Amino acid sequence: MSALAVRHGAINLGQGFPDTDGPPEVLEAAVAAIRGGRNQYPPGPGVPELLEAIAAHQQRFYGLSVDPAREVLVTVGATEAIAATVLALVEPGDEVVTFEPYYDSYAATIALAGGVRRTSVLRFPEFAVDEASLRAAFSPRTRMVLLNSPHNPTGKVFTRSELELICTLAREHDAWVVTDEVYEHLVFDGVQHVPVATLAGMAERTITISSAGKTFSTTGWKVGWVTGPAPAVAAVRAVKQFLTYVGSGPFQPAVAVGLGLPDSVYAGLAASLQAKRDLLCDGLSAAGLAVAAPSGTYFVIADVAPLGAVDGLEFCLQLPELAGVVGVPVSVFHDDAEAARTLVRFAFCKRDEVLREAVGRLARLRLG
Ligand code: PMP
Repeated sequence: MSALAVRHGAINLGQGFPDTDGPPEVLEAAVAAIRGGRNQYPPGPGVPELLEAIAAHQQRFYGLSVDPAREVLVTVGATEAIAATVLALVEPGDEVVTFEPYYDSYAATIALAGGVRRTSVLRFPEFAVDEASLRAAFSPRTRMVLLNSPHNPTGKVFTRSELELICTLAREHDAWVVTDEVYEHLVFDGVQHVPVATLAGMAERTITISSAGKTFSTTGWKVGWVTGPAPAVAAVRAVKQFLTYVGSGPFQPAVAVGLGLPDSVYAGLAASLQAKRDLLCDGLSAAGLAVAAPSGTYFVIADVAPLGAVDGLEFCLQLPELAGVVGVPVSVFHDDAEAARTLVRFAFCKRDEVLREAVGRLARLRLG
């Protein structure tokens, strides 16, 4: 889709990366780290000031006590955190419960571990958890639940009661909950992000994953982290050692600076993205698409069926030429492609003038 965007000079609302830089303090700290000679291998678990900053962040925002020496691991983005965690805890034949649509690395890493993916579908436009299908996804072979909230690609923020249901089932099956919370600070309309580790009795079986990429608009830096019980974090570290060993040396102290920034910086990012969400959602609705307004993340899902389109993939292949805009068919994030046949994901983490131009182009869209 990105190649199509280039070919047609289209606005790329496909891939989720911001087109502006994050807080200047964070950028300057990286420059200072490079100039200050922090350019060699950092320690395996991560640089001490980042380990401390991650623990302090968990305490400050969620009241979670995390030991920076034993319960935190810095990774090469959340992507490595997900891969190392799944490889550490899933043995061949073990089952991993996840929701679809899912972030695509989940299916790949479960496969790399020789695990078996068991899914429950979140359906447009509510994307509510369906208890019967979730229960049916669990079995005596369930080893892990791999969860993502706020959720890519739907923009859904799981409710406390949905999370409690998931955790009850995980406890009943003695399964790990691995929770990908990379969009933890990108929530709108006063909706509350509930970290799984804060739910009663869950800290001991929960591995939490996050990343600096989304929070500080530094997706290219690839600084992520894992927090959880010390033995599990040690297992994840053992895998990480042979995936990348270490990474992102000078960016680690810079992210530590970011995690210490005042609440207003976090609130400002969420407010700015909420306005962008509104701009794009209004534009998509005005163009005749049915929109499921998201409560978090960078993404909105829209149904193109009201335009007369019957297949989201076909629609996305034509859209760059017809309208000069790129989106991603949601069916690619599914095992059950039928569940998302006419759904398309658009990213709104772009400058307002880019979104306005995209909305203007979509308003002129006519399917042949
Ligand atoms: N999880 C989810 C749900 C994501 O959307 C992304 C990035 N698109 C990642 C993980 C990967 O994060 P990172 O860039 O830090 O590897």
